[in-house]
This record gives sequence, C-alpha cells and structure tokens, in this order.
Amino acid sequence: MGTPQRDVTIDYATAQKELLIEKHCAFLTGYGQSHSTYQYGVTDYLRMSGIYWLCTCLDLLHSLDKIDRNYIVDYIQKCHDKTTGGYAPAPNHDSHLLYTLSAVQILVQLDRVDMIDKESLCSYIKQLQQEDGSFFGDQWGEIDTRFSFCAIACLKLIDSLHTVDIDRATDFIMSCLNFDGGFGCIPGAESHAGQIYCCLGFLSLVQRLDRIDLSTRNMLAWWLCERQLENSGGLNGRPEKLPDVCYSWWVLASLKILGKLQWINSEKLSKFILAAQDDETGGCADRPGNIPDPFHTLFGVTGLSLLKVFDENTIKQVNPVLCMPEYVIQRRGITMQLL
Ligand SMILES: [Zn+2]
Repeated sequence: MGTPQRDVTIDYATAQKELLIEKHCAFLTGYGQSHSTYQYGVTDYLRMSGIYWLCTCLDLLHSLDKIDRNYIVDYIQKCHDKTTGGYAPAPNHDSHLLYTLSAVQILVQLDRVDMIDKESLCSYIKQLQQEDGSFFGDQWGEIDTRFSFCAIACLKLIDSLHTVDIDRATDFIMSCLNFDGGFGCIPGAESHAGQIYCCLGFLSLVQRLDRIDLSTRNMLAWWLCERQLENSGGLNGRPEKLPDVCYSWWVLASLKILGKLQWINSEKLSKFILAAQDDETGGCADRPGNIPDPFHTLFGVTGLSLLKVFDENTIKQVNPVLCMPEYVIQRRGITMQLL
C-alpha cells in the first residue's frame, strides 16, 4: 500500500494489435519438431505438458488438424507408467500428477478416453491422497494445492470423482485459505494467483464454492483485480511482481469462477497480451519484447478467449476451470459450479 507498483513500459503506439493466428500455429507446430535442438533436450521433463499446451492452443485457434493425432496418442501411451498407473512427462521418467493431468486432458480432447486404463489411474490417484485430505504429487511426497486440483480434475474428466475422499480433500483446500482471501500451496503459505486458480477450480469441480463465504469471496475478487497494473494493463501473480501473460489466465479464470470477470479492464489487458506476441516468429512471451514459448502462447490465447475480444470463429470458447475448449467439456457432459 502506498508504494508504487513495479511495472513495465510498453509503447502501445507501435505495439502489435492484431492476433497473429497463422504465425502462432506455425510457431506451435514447429516447436515440437525440432528434435535435435538444445531446447528440446533440456525440456524433456515438460514434454507431456508441452503437448497439452500445443493441442489446446491449436484447437482454440481452429487448427487441431495441424497435429499428428496418432503420433501424440502413441507418445502418451509410451509415457504411461504401468507400475503406478500414472503418466510421466516423457518415456522412462517417473510418473507425476501434473503430467498425469496433462495426459488425461490431451486424450479427452482428442476423444480417445478409450486409451485410459480408468481402474489403474483411479488407484494411482487414490493412493496419493493423504490422511489430511491433501495429495502427494508423486511418490516423493511433496504436497501442494496444485496437486489437489490435478487429482480432482483427472477424476472429473473420467467421471470417477467418488474414488477419493472429497470432503477431506475440500477441508485441506480450505485450510490453505489466507486472511487476505487468497490461497497458498500449503496451510500458511503466501497467497499466489496460480494457487488461487487451483483452489477455486477444485471447489468449482466438487461444487463447494459455498465453503468460501460472501465477504471472503469479495475480498478475494478484489485481491485478484488488484493484480492489474496501472501502466501496462498486464496482470501480476502477487503484489510487487512484474506483469506476466500467464497470469492473464490464472487471474482471469479465477475471476470468471467468482463471477467477477468484469472487475478487470479488458481493453487494457487485451492490449498487453497482443503486445506480447512475437510478430517475427509467432508465439507469445511472458511480456512484450521477451522470447516467446508455447506456455505463454496458450495462456495468452486462453486469456483473450475469456475476455471475448474476438468472436468464436477466431478463438473458440475456453472452459475457465479445466483450461480446455468448452466444446470438449460439453461433449463429456462435465458440469461444474461457476458463480
Ligand atoms: Zn509466466
């Protein structure tokens, strides 16, 4: 309070204002194909999530036909850990809830739920739940509200929510609620937009948003809309941090769940996202002028989808809780709570 917010200066007179769809599609499809590049090797641990970012973003841009579906389904099968029942980021790596959610999201999106061994997936998720309701991310035992979200989102996508103890899982999420209305990764940890999205998404999927009382919800929505920076119009993830395109997603989706999306200045934010596009290579960066990557490209596009600055013939509607095209969620008949 009182101290000036950290921000970046953007020359909006010369900044990119059009959505570079063709370039983004070329950027995304080219990214996975340069197998010999250094980048590809060092991001092995991100492969599964990378494929999810790619498929989701291309689908939202009406370009899912640009991917090789069979190659992707085959790759996911190679990442399936038959011992645990979960999925690894790449073949011969350890399974983890984060990559298991990405794998399930991709298979659901490609309408290949038949490839999922539901029974072993359910037992994998069930054995990661702890006495206090929280979830381990893998056998190494780290706990984080992100993993609670991943567990519930996976189960919801395969219609198996009953597998785990939802009441206890919900109690754990509520134990991470802070005095400022936000949520952290464990009880007592600082509020952060990414964790807030996971906790609100969790409560939306189990239809228990009523666990947050009205005044706390308003305080939380206020905390979220305060993430918009005055000068650039971009959103940060916590006070005193620089704006970053990916927070367009974590913050906007959270506000959408709370029914308070209109508290954000949509025009300023969409200008910031569009300015973060790379007009030479395609793709979006975390902020204007930086190097683009598939992660920020997806969250730039999903942010623009939620803001509805383009019609659905340009960007398909995204589901705010599962970060997948809305038509896929409808096709699966998945319901969730939005305020
Ligand atoms: Zn970011």
